[in-house]
Amino acid sequence: MKNVEFDIAIVGAGCIGSSIGYEIARRGYRNSVIIDNGRKHLSATASSGGMLRVFHENIEHLQLALNNFALLKKYQDRGLIQEKNQPNGHLYFFNSRRFPHYAANFQKMESAGYAFEILTSSTGRTKFPQFHWNDDEWAVYEPLGTHLSPTGFSNDLLSASQKSGLTILDNFEVDRICHFRGQYKIFSQTSGIMAKTVILAGGARLLPYITNLGIAHSLKSQRLTVYQAEKKNEFLILPNYFDRETLDFARLGPGRHLILGQPESKRIKEKYWTGEFTKISAEDCYSPNRMGYAGFLMGQPRMMIATGWGGTAFKFSLEIGQRIGRALENGQNERSLLHA
Ligand SMILES: Cc1cc2nc3c(=O)[nH]c(=O)nc-3n(C[C@H](O)[C@H](O)[C@H](O)COP(=O)(O)OP(=O)(O)OC[C@H]3O[C@@H](n4cnc5c(N)ncnc54)[C@H](O)[C@@H]3O)c2cc1C
Repeated sequence: MKNVEFDIAIVGAGCIGSSIGYEIARRGYRNSVIIDNGRKHLSATASSGGMLRVFHENIEHLQLALNNFALLKKYQDRGLIQEKNQPNGHLYFFNSRRFPHYAANFQKMESAGYAFEILTSSTGRTKFPQFHWNDDEWAVYEPLGTHLSPTGFSNDLLSASQKSGLTILDNFEVDRICHFRGQYKIFSQTSGIMAKTVILAGGARLLPYITNLGIAHSLKSQRLTVYQAEKKNEFLILPNYFDRETLDFARLGPGRHLILGQPESKRIKEKYWTGEFTKISAEDCYSPNRMGYAGFLMGQPRMMIATGWGGTAFKFSLEIGQRIGRALENGQNERSLLHA
């Protein structure tokens, strides 16, 4: 493929890129392409536990998750996302002293009509005796908390977008992007394409390499270490912050078998795991504050960026796609989402 011209090129077909692709196709942008290097099996989306919940300490994240929940339901009802949620509940534990800090968060969930319950240590012990509840430990219980397969989710969005005219270009490793006659030229080793607008959705892992692509930017990122752990005969890849929530993400809870804290701390509550935790690689990375980036890149006309981030952005992806779509149409940053 040489010098083919597109209006919009999305780099990266993880859950964020495919949500943006769908949003762009839905908005009627016909001449667009989504590019991936063909290593989707190594992406954050492929490793993700696909956990969906709404409560977040950061109220902006809570709003993202709430909007995302509504969009997901709409797309599932239409048959666009084929997999159905099987609500299995979700608990988010917090120190009881923090309760007043979350008043506005709970208010938002209540106004949206989203079901939740605050469990004190004593109501929690009655309802979920399988967990160890410290006296100062409370939790937000979300009965609709659930998970989906992030890979199935992305594939459903990609095939719907393809039907609406989005071109999918696989096995295309973007290794340089430059300005060319008022457009962008996107190179791989063997070919190049042109695009008027570029949306970088190559995941947080792409952030450190943006300069190598020829783009001046001021974003920094850190590597996220992941561990391989053995459960019975099954190997699981988990991020380095093992906690109840993460285990829930990884579809292991809520149940009797819990690991609290970092693997080094050996705070394993139940002997369910065999072997040692092996530090294997960094398949994902995250921005300095573990937050995502979405919006226009400063100094780059018609170039946008949208990254998911460590541990927590599958559940925002449809909403990020929608916000990028709106920002693209308005030609403006969605202030609230930039460095969300
Ligand atoms: C272990 C783990 C568990 C998680 N659990 C949850 C969870 O339970 N719930 C939740 O909400 N979030 C979770 N997350 C976070 C969430 O999965 C990520 O935030 C999200 O998947 C990031 O999506 P993305 O599309 O931005 O990036 P990615 O999924 O990494 O996708 C980027 C794509 O771009 C491609 N690409 C990169 N560079 C190039 C290039 N130069 N040229 C062409 N293509 C390129 C990659 O191959 C990849 O396919 C978890 C993350 C991890 C790592």
